[in-house]
Amino acid sequence: MSHVCFYVPAHIIDHIAKNARQLGLDPEPAQRTAVADRAQRQSRNDSAAAAGFAALTPPRPGKGDRQIFDDENQWNVGVTLVRGEGDAAVAGANANAAYDGLGATRDFYRDILGRDSIDNAGLTLLGNVNYGVQYDNAFWDGTEMVFGNGDGVIFTDFTKDVDVCAHELTHGVTQYTAGLYYTDQPGAMNEAFSDIFGSCVDQMVHKVDAGEHNWLIGEEVMADQLYGEAIRSMAHPGTAYDNPVLGRDPQAADMSGYVPGGDPHVNSGIINRAFYLTAIELGTFPAARVWFNTLLNLWPNAQFADCAYICAEQARILARDGKVGRNAAQTVRAAFHEVGVV
Ligand SMILES: [Zn+2]
Repeated sequence: MSHVCFYVPAHIIDHIAKNARQLGLDPEPAQRTAVADRAQRQSRNDSAAAAGFAALTPPRPGKGDRQIFDDENQWNVGVTLVRGEGDAAVAGANANAAYDGLGATRDFYRDILGRDSIDNAGLTLLGNVNYGVQYDNAFWDGTEMVFGNGDGVIFTDFTKDVDVCAHELTHGVTQYTAGLYYTDQPGAMNEAFSDIFGSCVDQMVHKVDAGEHNWLIGEEVMADQLYGEAIRSMAHPGTAYDNPVLGRDPQAADMSGYVPGGDPHVNSGIINRAFYLTAIELGTFPAARVWFNTLLNLWPNAQFADCAYICAEQARILARDGKVGRNAAQTVRAAFHEVGVV
Protein backbone atom coordinates (compact mmCIF):
# COMPACT_ATOMS: atom_id res chain seq x y z
CA MET A 1 0.00 0.00 0.00
CA SER A 2 1.36 3.34 -0.87
CA HIS A 3 0.09 6.81 -1.04
CA VAL A 4 -0.66 8.99 -4.00
CA CYS A 5 1.91 11.69 -4.80
CA PHE A 6 0.70 14.76 -6.70
CA TYR A 7 3.07 16.83 -8.81
CA VAL A 8 1.50 20.23 -8.08
CA PRO A 9 1.17 20.54 -4.29
CA ALA A 10 -2.27 21.09 -2.77
CA HIS A 11 -1.39 24.57 -1.49
CA ILE A 12 -0.77 25.78 -5.07
CA ILE A 13 -3.96 24.23 -6.51
CA ASP A 14 -6.02 25.65 -3.64
CA HIS A 15 -4.54 29.11 -4.18
CA ILE A 16 -5.46 29.02 -7.88
CA ALA A 17 -8.97 27.69 -7.15
CA LYS A 18 -9.57 30.52 -4.67
CA ASN A 19 -8.06 33.40 -6.65
CA ALA A 20 -8.61 32.62 -10.34
CA ARG A 21 -11.99 34.33 -10.71
CA GLN A 22 -10.90 37.73 -9.37
CA LEU A 23 -7.90 37.57 -11.71
CA GLY A 24 -10.24 37.11 -14.67
CA LEU A 25 -9.37 33.42 -15.12
CA ASP A 26 -11.67 30.40 -15.21
CA PRO A 27 -11.54 28.89 -11.70
CA GLU A 28 -13.25 25.64 -12.67
CA PRO A 29 -10.25 23.53 -13.81
CA ALA A 30 -8.37 24.19 -10.57
CA GLN A 31 -11.52 23.68 -8.49
CA ARG A 32 -12.21 20.34 -10.22
CA THR A 33 -8.56 19.37 -9.75
CA ALA A 34 -8.72 20.20 -6.03
CA VAL A 35 -11.85 18.06 -5.62
CA ALA A 36 -10.39 15.13 -7.59
CA ASP A 37 -7.08 15.27 -5.68
CA ARG A 38 -8.86 15.40 -2.33
CA ALA A 39 -10.95 12.34 -3.24
CA GLN A 40 -7.83 10.41 -4.33
CA ARG A 41 -6.00 11.41 -1.16
CA GLN A 42 -8.95 10.39 1.00
CA SER A 43 -9.39 6.95 -0.57
CA ARG A 44 -5.63 6.37 -0.19
CA ASN A 45 -5.71 7.34 3.48
CA ASP A 46 -8.66 5.03 4.12
CA SER A 47 -7.10 2.04 2.38
CA ALA A 48 -3.69 2.73 3.96
CA ALA A 49 -5.30 2.79 7.40
CA ALA A 50 -7.20 -0.41 6.64
CA ALA A 51 -4.04 -2.16 5.45
CA GLY A 52 -1.95 -0.95 8.38
CA PHE A 53 0.39 0.99 6.03
CA ALA A 54 3.35 -1.12 4.99
CA ALA A 55 6.11 1.22 3.82
CA LEU A 56 7.90 -1.29 1.64
CA THR A 57 6.32 -2.83 -1.42
CA PRO A 58 7.37 -6.24 -2.79
CA PRO A 59 8.83 -6.11 -6.35
CA ARG A 60 6.74 -7.13 -9.35
CA PRO A 61 9.14 -8.77 -11.84
CA GLY A 62 8.82 -7.71 -15.49
CA LYS A 63 10.86 -6.46 -18.43
CA GLY A 64 10.68 -2.74 -17.68
CA ASP A 65 8.51 -2.25 -20.75
CA ARG A 66 6.17 0.69 -21.23
CA GLN A 67 2.39 0.80 -21.71
CA ILE A 68 0.70 4.11 -22.45
CA PHE A 69 -3.05 4.49 -21.99
CA ASP A 70 -5.37 7.19 -23.32
CA ASP A 71 -7.93 7.86 -20.58
CA GLU A 72 -10.13 9.75 -23.09
CA ASN A 73 -10.85 12.53 -20.59
CA GLN A 74 -12.49 10.14 -18.14
CA TRP A 75 -11.58 10.24 -14.45
CA ASN A 76 -10.32 6.64 -14.72
CA VAL A 77 -6.94 5.10 -15.51
CA GLY A 78 -6.09 2.36 -18.02
CA VAL A 79 -8.97 3.23 -20.39
CA THR A 80 -7.43 2.43 -23.84
CA LEU A 81 -3.93 1.06 -24.47
CA VAL A 82 -2.47 3.17 -27.30
CA ARG A 83 1.26 2.45 -27.31
CA GLY A 84 3.29 -0.48 -25.99
CA GLU A 85 7.05 -1.02 -25.82
CA GLY A 86 8.66 -0.76 -29.25
CA ASP A 87 5.46 0.38 -30.98
CA ALA A 88 5.68 3.21 -33.50
CA ALA A 89 4.73 6.73 -32.47
CA VAL A 90 0.98 7.40 -32.37
CA ALA A 91 -1.10 10.45 -33.30
CA GLY A 92 -1.32 11.88 -29.77
CA ALA A 93 1.75 14.01 -29.01
CA ASN A 94 1.23 13.63 -25.26
CA ALA A 95 1.09 9.82 -25.51
CA ASN A 96 4.46 9.91 -27.27
CA ALA A 97 5.86 12.38 -24.74
CA ALA A 98 4.74 10.11 -21.90
CA TYR A 99 6.36 7.14 -23.65
CA ASP A 100 9.62 9.10 -24.05
CA GLY A 101 9.54 10.44 -20.49
CA LEU A 102 9.04 7.01 -18.96
CA GLY A 103 11.84 5.73 -21.21
CA ALA A 104 14.26 8.51 -20.24
CA THR A 105 13.60 7.88 -16.56
CA ARG A 106 14.05 4.13 -16.95
CA ASP A 107 17.28 4.71 -18.92
CA PHE A 108 18.67 7.10 -16.31
CA TYR A 109 18.10 4.56 -13.53
CA ARG A 110 19.57 1.73 -15.61
CA ASP A 111 22.54 3.51 -17.22
CA ILE A 112 23.61 5.91 -14.47
CA LEU A 113 22.48 4.13 -11.29
CA GLY A 114 22.40 0.47 -12.37
CA ARG A 115 18.76 -0.03 -11.37
CA ASP A 116 16.34 -2.22 -13.37
CA SER A 117 13.15 -0.12 -13.52
CA ILE A 118 11.46 1.25 -10.43
CA ASP A 119 11.55 -1.92 -8.33
CA ASN A 120 14.95 -3.16 -9.64
CA ALA A 121 13.07 -6.18 -11.03
CA GLY A 122 11.89 -4.73 -14.33
CA LEU A 123 8.51 -3.39 -13.18
CA THR A 124 6.30 -2.56 -16.18
CA LEU A 125 5.90 1.21 -16.54
CA LEU A 126 2.28 2.25 -16.93
CA GLY A 127 1.49 5.77 -18.12
CA ASN A 128 -1.86 7.52 -18.62
CA VAL A 129 -2.57 10.66 -20.65
CA ASN A 130 -5.75 12.73 -21.14
CA TYR A 131 -6.87 11.91 -17.60
CA GLY A 132 -9.93 13.86 -16.47
CA VAL A 133 -11.05 17.19 -17.91
CA GLN A 134 -8.48 20.04 -18.01
CA TYR A 135 -6.95 18.28 -15.03
CA ASP A 136 -4.29 20.60 -13.54
CA ASN A 137 -2.01 17.95 -12.11
CA ALA A 138 -0.11 14.66 -12.54
CA PHE A 139 0.40 11.91 -10.03
CA TRP A 140 1.87 8.51 -9.22
CA ASP A 141 -0.73 6.35 -7.49
CA GLY A 142 1.65 3.65 -6.30
CA THR A 143 1.12 1.62 -9.46
CA GLU A 144 0.91 3.97 -12.42
CA MET A 145 1.78 7.40 -13.73
CA VAL A 146 -1.12 9.72 -14.59
CA PHE A 147 -0.88 13.00 -16.55
CA GLY A 148 -3.57 15.68 -16.87
CA ASN A 149 -3.95 18.00 -19.87
CA GLY A 150 -3.78 21.17 -17.76
CA ASP A 151 -6.19 24.02 -18.35
CA GLY A 152 -4.00 25.53 -21.09
CA VAL A 153 -3.86 28.93 -19.37
CA ILE A 154 -2.03 28.27 -16.11
CA PHE A 155 -0.66 24.77 -16.75
CA THR A 156 0.09 22.97 -20.03
CA ASP A 157 -0.15 19.23 -20.60
CA PHE A 158 1.90 17.60 -17.84
CA THR A 159 3.81 15.40 -20.29
CA LYS A 160 5.60 18.55 -21.55
CA ASP A 161 8.28 18.50 -18.86
CA VAL A 162 10.28 15.31 -18.27
CA ASP A 163 10.72 16.53 -14.67
CA VAL A 164 7.13 15.53 -14.00
CA CYS A 165 7.50 11.91 -15.02
CA ALA A 166 10.94 11.47 -13.44
CA HIS A 167 9.82 13.11 -10.19
CA GLU A 168 6.76 10.90 -9.93
CA LEU A 169 8.49 7.63 -10.86
CA THR A 170 11.12 8.38 -8.23
CA HIS A 171 8.36 8.32 -5.61
CA GLY A 172 8.00 4.73 -6.81
CA VAL A 173 11.74 4.07 -6.37
CA THR A 174 11.60 5.51 -2.84
CA GLN A 175 8.59 3.33 -2.10
CA TYR A 176 10.65 0.24 -3.11
CA THR A 177 13.83 1.30 -1.26
CA ALA A 178 13.98 3.53 1.84
CA GLY A 179 10.18 3.60 2.15
CA LEU A 180 10.40 7.11 3.65
CA TYR A 181 7.19 8.08 5.48
CA TYR A 182 5.35 11.02 3.94
CA THR A 183 5.41 13.24 7.05
CA ASP A 184 7.82 15.81 8.49
CA GLN A 185 11.55 15.17 7.79
CA PRO A 186 11.18 11.75 6.10
CA GLY A 187 8.38 13.27 4.00
CA ALA A 188 10.56 16.23 3.01
CA MET A 189 13.31 13.80 1.98
CA ASN A 190 10.78 11.70 0.04
CA GLU A 191 9.88 14.85 -1.92
CA ALA A 192 13.52 15.94 -2.25
CA PHE A 193 14.72 12.65 -3.72
CA SER A 194 11.98 12.97 -6.36
CA ASP A 195 13.15 16.47 -7.29
CA ILE A 196 16.79 15.37 -7.16
CA PHE A 197 16.54 12.44 -9.56
CA GLY A 198 13.87 14.28 -11.55
CA SER A 199 16.36 17.07 -12.19
CA CYS A 200 19.06 14.50 -13.06
CA VAL A 201 16.82 12.98 -15.75
CA ASP A 202 16.06 16.49 -17.04
CA GLN A 203 19.80 17.21 -17.27
CA MET A 204 20.44 13.88 -19.02
CA VAL A 205 17.71 14.58 -21.61
CA HIS A 206 18.88 18.16 -22.23
CA LYS A 207 22.56 17.13 -22.10
CA VAL A 208 23.61 19.69 -19.49
CA ASP A 209 25.63 19.32 -16.30
CA ALA A 210 25.19 21.00 -12.91
CA GLY A 211 26.83 24.31 -13.89
CA GLU A 212 24.62 24.84 -16.96
CA HIS A 213 21.30 23.60 -15.57
CA ASN A 214 18.62 26.04 -14.36
CA TRP A 215 17.73 23.80 -11.38
CA LEU A 216 14.06 24.66 -11.81
CA ILE A 217 11.31 22.09 -11.35
CA GLY A 218 8.28 22.19 -13.62
CA GLU A 219 9.14 25.32 -15.61
CA GLU A 220 7.97 23.67 -18.85
CA VAL A 221 4.44 22.91 -17.60
CA MET A 222 3.76 26.62 -17.06
CA ALA A 223 1.36 27.94 -19.72
CA ASP A 224 1.52 31.51 -21.13
CA GLN A 225 -0.09 33.11 -18.09
CA LEU A 226 2.90 31.98 -15.99
CA TYR A 227 5.68 31.83 -18.59
CA GLY A 228 9.06 31.96 -16.84
CA GLU A 229 7.79 30.84 -13.44
CA ALA A 230 8.43 27.35 -12.02
CA ILE A 231 7.12 25.17 -9.21
CA ARG A 232 10.39 24.89 -7.28
CA SER A 233 13.98 26.10 -7.48
CA MET A 234 16.61 23.68 -6.18
CA ALA A 235 19.42 26.26 -6.30
CA HIS A 236 17.41 29.03 -4.61
CA PRO A 237 14.40 27.49 -2.83
CA GLY A 238 11.72 30.10 -2.16
CA THR A 239 12.27 32.01 -5.43
CA ALA A 240 10.45 29.80 -7.99
CA TYR A 241 7.30 31.95 -8.21
CA ASP A 242 5.67 35.06 -6.81
CA ASN A 243 2.46 36.12 -8.58
CA PRO A 244 -1.26 36.56 -7.88
CA VAL A 245 -2.21 33.25 -9.54
CA LEU A 246 0.08 30.89 -7.64
CA GLY A 247 0.90 33.01 -4.60
CA ARG A 248 4.47 33.11 -3.32
CA ASP A 249 6.92 30.18 -3.20
CA PRO A 250 7.10 29.15 0.50
CA GLN A 251 10.03 26.71 0.21
CA ALA A 252 12.71 26.64 2.90
CA ALA A 253 16.30 27.09 1.66
CA ASP A 254 17.91 26.10 4.97
CA MET A 255 16.99 25.05 8.51
CA SER A 256 16.07 28.64 9.49
CA GLY A 257 13.01 28.21 7.25
CA TYR A 258 12.20 24.69 8.44
CA VAL A 259 8.56 24.24 9.49
CA PRO A 260 8.25 21.44 12.10
CA GLY A 261 5.66 18.97 10.82
CA GLY A 262 5.21 21.17 7.73
CA ASP A 263 4.34 20.27 4.14
CA PRO A 264 7.00 17.96 2.65
CA HIS A 265 7.06 20.24 -0.45
CA VAL A 266 8.13 23.19 1.75
CA ASN A 267 10.84 21.52 3.85
CA SER A 268 12.20 19.58 0.86
CA GLY A 269 13.94 22.81 -0.25
CA ILE A 270 16.59 22.24 2.44
CA ILE A 271 17.57 18.83 1.09
CA ASN A 272 17.16 19.89 -2.56
CA ARG A 273 19.68 22.67 -2.01
CA ALA A 274 22.13 20.30 -0.29
CA PHE A 275 22.01 18.15 -3.43
CA TYR A 276 22.46 21.17 -5.70
CA LEU A 277 25.53 22.23 -3.70
CA THR A 278 26.92 18.68 -3.96
CA ALA A 279 26.27 18.47 -7.71
CA ILE A 280 27.91 21.84 -8.41
CA GLU A 281 31.13 20.47 -6.85
CA LEU A 282 31.07 16.82 -7.96
CA GLY A 283 29.10 17.01 -11.23
CA THR A 284 25.49 15.87 -11.52
CA PHE A 285 25.91 12.15 -12.21
CA PRO A 286 28.64 11.51 -9.59
CA ALA A 287 26.47 13.40 -7.08
CA ALA A 288 23.49 11.30 -8.18
CA ARG A 289 25.43 8.09 -7.44
CA VAL A 290 26.32 9.30 -3.94
CA TRP A 291 22.74 10.32 -3.20
CA PHE A 292 21.24 7.17 -4.69
CA ASN A 293 23.44 5.00 -2.46
CA THR A 294 22.21 7.20 0.38
CA LEU A 295 18.58 6.48 -0.51
CA LEU A 296 19.36 2.75 -0.54
CA ASN A 297 20.69 3.03 3.02
CA LEU A 298 17.92 5.17 4.57
CA TRP A 299 14.87 3.85 6.43
CA PRO A 300 11.22 4.94 6.80
CA ASN A 301 11.58 7.41 9.68
CA ALA A 302 15.13 8.65 8.91
CA GLN A 303 15.82 12.32 9.76
CA PHE A 304 17.82 15.02 7.91
CA ALA A 305 20.88 14.43 10.14
CA ASP A 306 20.79 10.69 9.29
CA CYS A 307 20.72 11.60 5.61
CA ALA A 308 23.72 13.92 6.05
CA TYR A 309 25.73 11.27 7.88
CA ILE A 310 24.94 8.43 5.46
CA CYS A 311 25.47 10.65 2.44
CA ALA A 312 29.01 11.57 3.57
CA GLU A 313 29.69 7.91 4.35
CA GLN A 314 28.51 6.79 0.89
CA ALA A 315 30.58 9.55 -0.71
CA ARG A 316 33.66 8.26 1.12
CA ILE A 317 33.02 4.67 -0.01
CA LEU A 318 32.53 5.73 -3.64
CA ALA A 319 35.68 7.88 -3.46
CA ARG A 320 37.65 4.92 -2.11
CA ASP A 321 36.42 2.88 -5.10
CA GLY A 322 37.46 5.65 -7.49
CA LYS A 323 33.85 6.44 -8.52
CA VAL A 324 33.86 10.06 -7.30
CA GLY A 325 36.57 12.58 -6.36
CA ARG A 326 38.71 11.94 -3.28
CA ASN A 327 37.15 14.75 -1.21
CA ALA A 328 33.52 13.95 -1.96
CA ALA A 329 32.71 13.29 1.72
CA GLN A 330 33.92 16.77 2.68
CA THR A 331 31.85 18.25 -0.17
CA VAL A 332 28.74 16.51 1.16
CA ARG A 333 29.37 17.62 4.74
CA ALA A 334 29.91 21.21 3.61
CA ALA A 335 26.65 21.12 1.66
CA PHE A 336 24.65 19.87 4.67
CA HIS A 337 26.44 22.44 6.85
CA GLU A 338 25.52 25.24 4.42
CA VAL A 339 21.80 24.39 4.74
CA GLY A 340 22.07 24.16 8.52
CA VAL A 341 21.47 20.42 8.97
CA VAL A 342 24.87 19.67 10.57
ZN1 LIG B 1 6.39 14.62 -5.21
